[in-house]
Amino acid sequence: MSITKEVKRKDTEKRELLNPFLSTQTIIKEALQKLGYSEEVFELLKEPIRMMTVRIPVKMDDSSVKIFTGYRSQHNDAVGPTKGGVRFHPDVNEEEVKALSMWMSLKCGITDLPYGGGKGGIICDPRKMSFGELERLSRGYVRAVSQIVGPNKDIPAPDVYTNSQIMAWMMDEYSRLREFDSPGFITGKPIVLGGSQGRETATARGVTICIEQAVKKKNLQLHEARVIIQGFGNAGSFLAKFMHDAGARVIGISDAYGALYNPKGLDIEYLLDRRDSFGTVTKLFTKVISNQELLEKECDILVPAAIANQITGQNAHRIKASIIVEAANGPTTIEATKILDERGVLIVPDILASAGGVTVSYFEWVQNNQGYYWSQEEVANKLRKVMVDSFENVYEASQIHHVDMRIAAYMVGIRKSAEASRFRGWI
Ligand code: GLU
Repeated sequence: MSITKEVKRKDTEKRELLNPFLSTQTIIKEALQKLGYSEEVFELLKEPIRMMTVRIPVKMDDSSVKIFTGYRSQHNDAVGPTKGGVRFHPDVNEEEVKALSMWMSLKCGITDLPYGGGKGGIICDPRKMSFGELERLSRGYVRAVSQIVGPNKDIPAPDVYTNSQIMAWMMDEYSRLREFDSPGFITGKPIVLGGSQGRETATARGVTICIEQAVKKKNLQLHEARVIIQGFGNAGSFLAKFMHDAGARVIGISDAYGALYNPKGLDIEYLLDRRDSFGTVTKLFTKVISNQELLEKECDILVPAAIANQITGQNAHRIKASIIVEAANGPTTIEATKILDERGVLIVPDILASAGGVTVSYFEWVQNNQGYYWSQEEVANKLRKVMVDSFENVYEASQIHHVDMRIAAYMVGIRKSAEASRFRGWI
């Protein structure tokens, strides 16, 4: 690569790292062009149709009042109501929430769910807040966005650092505002409040199914594979268990503070038992390596299940895995995808690999609407079918159009929003 090209590459990647929204637009543009859609379609789909910023006053335990900033973004509602989680994190920002809502449209398109994409977030650090403060913040958020959400408008769900308890508070607040019980307003609820069997493990189940499909394409055997998982939250920890149960050797895991690595395999049962509710476990050990070191260790399957921009142009050429399955949102940059694709690494992109969560959220919403609840087995079988079909559709598109799995996933994912917008006469 020439020096000017290299400088340009680094510049593009830097912009992308700072702004996932811009990189999403770039790939959506490429996908729509490859599908033969006009510039107008891109103009409509390049940004969310609606973005709300709210300020939420919360009475803290020490009697002071703190004002939190929150967002709700709705990408496109041509297909149906918008759908997507709410994250509580100090790094939440407007551009990220916008990008995440666009990824939800793509996920729902790939899995063929009757939804467009939505996403929400609040700038806060739930690790430093009490139960009571979190409850007041969750209820305050619902009051603030109540005009634009609802069971047939926009349906929230859990995301980073939010869980079924937070969903329960949010559902209760919405039901009180509307003065009737509204379980279909939100998904990821506790089972006793209308949650679905299998929702808690759904993202990890979906990732597992993608791994099984990817392994077949690469002629590997799962029970002989060495797996590294970055992140030990909802997706990462259940995935470690499922991989361990499938006979694979989990040789590395990590949390926000460091990573554990043992080429002979880690004691997954012990780690699951000792992790706290935020997925922290490495603090109990003295022999800890960094997250970045872990990514570069020898393995067959690498699963980034933590945060964005972990595999970049800087470290992509040092990654040893032959399969990368993205359980987190946006862990690999466009530049890194190119480098890895050229090296023959099979990347199962986030918008496909992490779609198990929203799929079972859809099942939960259907069960709430029907008032009729399914068994664990029924949910698992339905999820398997959706994930296998979605994986095969994306894989086939990548073969037909000679593109990597990420572009293929965007092509499959964006088509439904584009078609629905066209039929409605919007473009
Ligand atoms: N937050 C999850 C995601 O990013 C789940 C969304 C949902 O269940 O609606 O896919």
